[in-house]
Amino acid sequence: MATYTYRCAVDGPVDLRVPIGTAPVTIACPTCGVLSPRMITAPMLGLADRGRMAVIDRSERSRTEPDVVSSLPRRPGRPAAPFDPRTRTLPRP
Ligand SMILES: [Zn+2]
Repeated sequence: MATYTYRCAVDGPVDLRVPIGTAPVTIACPTCGVLSPRMITAPMLGLADRGRMAVIDRSERSRTEPDVVSSLPRRPGRPAAPFDPRTRTLPRP
């Protein structure tokens, strides 16, 4: 995924995250609907290692597409937290 910036004449810059190479030349501003052209900006390429960039991408994606889990992840080398009976009253998916 890459972030592309468009310039709305009314609202200013608008960011759009789409796969690389699929960004349209213009988009309708999500606020006012005015046709907004794409701006040429400096690429924000990650220079970190692949593992670190995967963590950053996953973290950013979790803002709009959170993973659904049924339990807390276990940390290696640490015992599981003691069971709290109050968790029985929490809603289940
Ligand atoms: Zn606008």
